[in-house]
Amino acid sequence: MHEHALMADLTGKIQATAVQAGATRVTRVAVRLGALSHFTVEHFNEHFVDATRGTLAEGAEVVATLETEIGAQHANDVLLESIELELPELPAAERGSGPGTPAPGSSG
Ligand SMILES: [Zn+2]
Repeated sequence: MHEHALMADLTGKIQATAVQAGATRVTRVAVRLGALSHFTVEHFNEHFVDATRGTLAEGAEVVATLETEIGAQHANDVLLESIELELPELPAAERGSGPGTPAPGSSG
């Protein structure tokens, strides 16, 4: 069950970051898997695909690094290292003017 909580937390962060940036989708996510997080790279990938279905991160490339240091402070956790977003291409003249438009698909 712990791993599901980790995934929910992680994908929530990713989705929030993408929505906040106005991204159309997440292209790449890099994470570090704590030595005691019970994840392997393969197992993490399975959960990621499952957890991101229907979100902006669906289909994103995942780069997971498995930590081996069980004494590390974050050994029980999965750390979100970096995230790459695909942003809509706006004409320069329209950038930063007018009220923000609501992000599509925010209702789930
Ligand atoms: Zn599992």
